Amino acid sequence: MVAVTDGTAPVRRAPLIAGNWKMNLDHQQAIAFVQKLHWALRDAKHDKGSVEIAVFPPFTDLRTVQTLIDADKIPFELGAQDLSAHDSGAYTGEVSGAFLAKLACRYVIIGHSERRQYHHETDEVVAAKVRAALRHGLVPVICVGETSEDLEKFGASAVPVGQLQTALDGVPAGADIVVAYEPVWAIGSGQAATPQQAQDVCAKLRDVVAEKLGGDAADRTRVLYGGSVKSSNIASFMREPDVDGALVGGASLVVDEFAAIIRYQKHVGV
Ligand code: PEP
Repeated sequence: MVAVTDGTAPVRRAPLIAGNWKMNLDHQQAIAFVQKLHWALRDAKHDKGSVEIAVFPPFTDLRTVQTLIDADKIPFELGAQDLSAHDSGAYTGEVSGAFLAKLACRYVIIGHSERRQYHHETDEVVAAKVRAALRHGLVPVICVGETSEDLEKFGASAVPVGQLQTALDGVPAGADIVVAYEPVWAIGSGQAATPQQAQDVCAKLRDVVAEKLGGDAADRTRVLYGGSVKSSNIASFMREPDVDGALVGGASLVVDEFAAIIRYQKHVGV
């Protein structure tokens, strides 16, 4: 990521490195993981102001991780992996944004490809969840991305652009959101997009934010890349002007690897 200009002064978007644990680590394992990550960064004298760090544990870990972060003053933000489109009521198994806000979650992932694929979440459901997150003061991390079939048929950007357009329906211009471009073919495959591919689509997604929410929002909004991010490729993504961070799956579960991703500015000299 680099400085962008809003026409008057340069605007710098704070890089965000986000770890999506998926259905891994129970609440006891979560304690050990968060402590080890914190110690690894502290031992490496990581400058905590240089990169925002967020972890997205399973629902059942959230209270435990919240308590740990709070007690030990660990500079990590907390996020959930999903929320209900509804605020309360007869929705067995669902979790309200109100509950996440009470647990001091700042972020919530919405529309991850695994939710779209295994839970049949449509673009409209994603849009309703985005609105629910905003109602409760949560920052939605809106995931969009094309499958390999989409890529072949429509090219890289058409599907994620369409998904984001629908996801932003009814979102007010001042809303705080994060967008994550995650090509489905790159998730967990070891086959990351190239930095140029990520840049091209992230720039188009920023244009969607500009079209739907205005130019100021587009300048301010972090657009992340996700899909087989590792310590060996993170810097090449972060050099791109429209990539403001990463949503990391598998590598966010390995303390030293995730710490190295967070420290991308040091070990590769961005
Ligand atoms: C993800 O699931 O959001 C993801 C990017 O996974 P991975 O980093 O393992 O490809």
